[in-house]
Amino acid sequence: MAEPILRLSQVSKRFGQFQAVKEIDLAIQEGEFFTIVGPSGSGKTTLIRMLAGLEEPSDGEIALRGQRVNETPANRRPTCMVFQSLALFPHRTVGQNIEFPLKMRGVTPNERMNRALELMRQLRLPEGYYKKQVTQCSGGERQRIALARALAFDPEILFFDEPLSAIDFRLRKTLEKELKDIHRETGKTFIYITHSLEEAMVMSDRIGIMRAGELVQVGAPDEIYSQPANRFVSEFMGEVNVLPVVRDGSGLHCPELGTTLAAPEINGFQSGYLVIRPEYLRFLGPGESAENRVEGVLYNEYALGSRIQYQVRVGEQVFLVEKLREQRYQGQLDDTVAIGWDARDSVLAPE
Ligand code: ATP
Repeated sequence: MAEPILRLSQVSKRFGQFQAVKEIDLAIQEGEFFTIVGPSGSGKTTLIRMLAGLEEPSDGEIALRGQRVNETPANRRPTCMVFQSLALFPHRTVGQNIEFPLKMRGVTPNERMNRALELMRQLRLPEGYYKKQVTQCSGGERQRIALARALAFDPEILFFDEPLSAIDFRLRKTLEKELKDIHRETGKTFIYITHSLEEAMVMSDRIGIMRAGELVQVGAPDEIYSQPANRFVSEFMGEVNVLPVVRDGSGLHCPELGTTLAAPEINGFQSGYLVIRPEYLRFLGPGESAENRVEGVLYNEYALGSRIQYQVRVGEQVFLVEKLREQRYQGQLDDTVAIGWDARDSVLAPE
């Protein structure tokens, strides 16, 4: 494999006694869209600030194309942090904002304008916006202006610190897809942080999941989805059914259900969790079967737009079942229902 554009070896960061980032090893390839995901306080911002040169590691090494850059400040690295749109100059036009880095480098006004207009086209900002005040632009437009300004620096790596967190749901979904397109069009390396694994799944080539300063799993979205490294990763994927299981002579035993379950085979797996996404569970009518079948009481039903979520109580365990409206359960609350799933619809996560 080619030399990575960024390599982290045992990178740690301490603030006094507190260790915010712990011994991270990671290699990021040129042109990758790499996303770091984790809950609040897991160390994402601290890590990306070290990568961007805004913070020095306490230990370990960060190498950019094989050269140690631990002590190189942000402004002397070929990288750029794309802050939330708040970092734009509010009393300037869109054009002036995008041209700022070029002006700093002494590029002539004509060349600056041409480059700004080219970036605006690339980011789908209408040409007429060149003279528009930034304060008159919407949140999504400002985000694109901030990105255009970052691209005007022509950096090799762009860092994004939760750029879409303040934007409403529908626009965010559009911008996620746009950002993925822009990544493809520019061929640059994007390193992105977010709380949302769902957002990461849409855009990224690879995802690194952080918990309490450690990288607990690194992999392609599909890999993380189908082979979560542990319960934390699987629960981070949203609402899922998690059943504790232990291997015994006859197979995988679930103490909570008092039964043995059919599950995917993993070599050497002794104990952990069986994870089943709510949409993979099905209601079993008379004569219908599944490799795993449990009976319980339907005690709640929620409409989620095009889908309906059900809660089924099986002993102490509550199962979440999600169905499209057209496949809704034909019955009523408090019914005794049978639900089921096959081994291939579940994944095993170690402790
Ligand atoms: P969020 O998603 O909430 O932004 P995060 O995953 O980005 O969280 P960080 O901002 O990296 O987390 O913080 C990780 C931990 O390090 C937190 O407990 C935070 O309080 C602590 N921390 C961060 N910066 C400093 C600092 N300058 N001094 C002391 N502690 C810090």
